[in-house]
Amino acid sequence: MSLTVLMNAGPWLSVPPPGYGGIENVIATLVPELRRLGVRVVLASVADSALSVDELVSVFPDGQFGALQRPYNQVCGVAQAHLAGVVRELHARDDIDLVHDHVEAVGLATLTAMGPDGPPVLHTLHWDLTKHPALYGELDGGDRVRVNGVSASQLARAPRALQDHSVGHVHLSTPLAVGADRRPRPEKGEHVVVLGRINPGKGQDVGARLARQVGFPLVLAGPVGPYHRPEDLAAAGEEARQNPDVRFFYDEVAPYVDGDLVRWVGTVAGRERDELLAGARAALFPLRWEEPGGTAVVEALALGTPVVATARGCLPELVEHGRTGLLTTAEEELGELVLAAGLLEPDECRREAVARFTPAVMAERYLALYERVRHLRPAA
Ligand code: UDP
Repeated sequence: MSLTVLMNAGPWLSVPPPGYGGIENVIATLVPELRRLGVRVVLASVADSALSVDELVSVFPDGQFGALQRPYNQVCGVAQAHLAGVVRELHARDDIDLVHDHVEAVGLATLTAMGPDGPPVLHTLHWDLTKHPALYGELDGGDRVRVNGVSASQLARAPRALQDHSVGHVHLSTPLAVGADRRPRPEKGEHVVVLGRINPGKGQDVGARLARQVGFPLVLAGPVGPYHRPEDLAAAGEEARQNPDVRFFYDEVAPYVDGDLVRWVGTVAGRERDELLAGARAALFPLRWEEPGGTAVVEALALGTPVVATARGCLPELVEHGRTGLLTTAEEELGELVLAAGLLEPDECRREAVARFTPAVMAERYLALYERVRHLRPAA
């Protein structure tokens, strides 16, 4: 079988991403596995992307992440024009079998607008995009456009137009799941970790309050808005409060952060992140939003750390209550569940990650979807 996929990563960040970058990380994890399976990958991304691919086409000279706040439309317009040109040319030469698109405004919008002459498209939903239903009104060009989610619950909440074009979901994966059951088992500490952007949806305020009430040590790891280290946030002064996540942190979380029982350590990365998670009694997700994909959830499992979480979004799909974690719909119960999590078996979490959340498992699922999508043609 020969298959060439144009993977659209868009204009925001290089692949792999220099720091934060959920979508770009997924692509960086998926592409090597696809190539191992014999797929030829053409990456549409910014020119300084360093990921090994068969061909790189540039939709922007460098990452435009900053423009998500500022001249967004201008960046989108330029990137859309580049992408459309590249796709048209490759498709006309029969050089690609399909586009695997990950970018809402620059990808799906452009590819859909190409009408019946465009190539088949698989668009992966990464966020909850119910905010932008207008974007999906035109999907019908669309007997050549299909959509997948990163969880069943995400798809179930998606706009109708997307559901009508859905080919199912593919859960996220982590390289940490590879060989997770053969890795040495670290000592477990008493601490609990909340890993993720500090944000009302991630619910760090709930976790911090319960830690103080119930009395368990809690480490909050993750950036507050653009601030990765506590000293950077402190140095930023009052102006930083213009950012809603900074306001959330100061108003709702910081009152519980005493630097002893409850600590905020800023963004953790690489080995430091893995050791913090692997040594934790539990990874806590006190969610107040419907988590669409939950990379940090599968990372925790891969590192042998049971997940304690609000049963929202994808959590019930990723975590088996009573085996790999403890879930509740009543957020006040999370404190007690954290105490009970020590009874769960870390090896069950690792085995689950090896069976379900490796990049190889994800790539095989995508390959099956590519086979379904590649022969799609517009309605006559
Ligand atoms: N992350 C990290 N260091 C931090 C906080 C988060 O490396 O201090 C990573 C985390 O390990 C995961 C990603 O950021 O890989 C967050 O992805 P997730 O899907 O959990 O949440 P999102 O931010 O995409 O909603």
